[in-house]
Amino acid sequence: MAESIVLVLNSGSSSLKFSLFCLNSQQALLSGLADRLGQDDPEATLSWKADGQKQSLTIAGADQADALKALLNLLKERGMADKIKACGHRVVHGGEYFYESVLVDDLALDKIKRCIELAPLHNPANALGIEEMQRLFPGLPQVAVFDTAFHQSMPKEAYLYALPYELYRDHGVRRYGAHGTSHKYVAQQAVKQLALDPDNHALVTAHLGNGCSATAVLNGHSVDTTMGMTPLEGLVMGTRSGDIDPSLHQFLSEKLNIGIADVTAMLNKKSGLLGVSELSNDMRTLCDAAEQGNEQADLAVHLFCYRLAKSICALAMPLGRLDALVFTGGIGENALRVRELTLAHLKLLGFELDPALNATHGRDNNGLISTATSSKAVVIATNEEWAIAQDTARLIGG
Ligand code: ADP
Repeated sequence: MAESIVLVLNSGSSSLKFSLFCLNSQQALLSGLADRLGQDDPEATLSWKADGQKQSLTIAGADQADALKALLNLLKERGMADKIKACGHRVVHGGEYFYESVLVDDLALDKIKRCIELAPLHNPANALGIEEMQRLFPGLPQVAVFDTAFHQSMPKEAYLYALPYELYRDHGVRRYGAHGTSHKYVAQQAVKQLALDPDNHALVTAHLGNGCSATAVLNGHSVDTTMGMTPLEGLVMGTRSGDIDPSLHQFLSEKLNIGIADVTAMLNKKSGLLGVSELSNDMRTLCDAAEQGNEQADLAVHLFCYRLAKSICALAMPLGRLDALVFTGGIGENALRVRELTLAHLKLLGFELDPALNATHGRDNNGLISTATSSKAVVIATNEEWAIAQDTARLIGG
């Protein structure tokens, strides 16, 4: 199995991301994306990085099937196609059907399609990616790895909304969480790096990218998380508001004379860091602007950190103690200012930042950025593609 190659696919409606792993190295042999799919433009671009070199080509036709065909041609040309032993697919929503990754058969594919109503923007593309691969590569094992699966261990009191129970029973209205592959991966890494007991640990993992969520992990299982039924709930994000007063929908709809769908779009696309700063959804841009005196950018960064710290306190509750706080994702791994401001709010939980370690992202200190007497705060780079490759290999018996 050590020589086997696994293809990892993240099929979206407008892009297809791919990575190819030989399972004896976390470093992808080849990775890249096809973007501008499904647009009016009759061409898309396939770009990839291999051996440290970036290359690209234009694909004739521009849907997901065309992109996959072009990818497989590329892999054939490079002599890699025959070595692929399985394909792992990122699937956004597994509803209550999937507690873990699965080898895809007809029943699993049917369930993935049934989850389309829970993730109408993502699951159709995920299902299509699986079907196209089955067609192009008959007999190749396909594995589905779900963003929601890790959170299926949450207890009912954590995942139910205080709504009429029939909404859960009849329509699946509940909190499902997201970024599960990342939370699980960095929690496992933290246990290894900090030499914690695999059967007895209590962590909060903060995945901070364009989308953000934090999770309480008890002994390897998610017991609560900030994201809800949709990716809008919870932390402040790049363009998403996170938690708001549910009555705002009606208020804004009446005040601005717009429909509910437009309010939802505003909360998803024009809010969060972008909405507050009126400048950017990008944390790096905001940190730079704040340093140069832009007050609204500074406010957005502060608001982001305040809300994150508040959620971390809430997530510590079901854990009963906190062995470590893990920062990951583009912001968590790189934005020192965010970690600094967040930990400054967390004295109650015993956190004290070591500024020198924070400045180097804990790189020379096993990820640790807290002082010796502090509760442990650690920076761990996520690698969702690698986690999917590993699950895929495990499921095909590697
Ligand atoms: P995605 O969720 O799309 O995978 P990423 O995990 O790549 O996103 O995170 C993107 C976010 O990380 C952006 O807000 C970006 O500004 C932020 N980021 C990346 N590098 C830095 C940095 N050096 N300082 C501050 N923020 C950073």
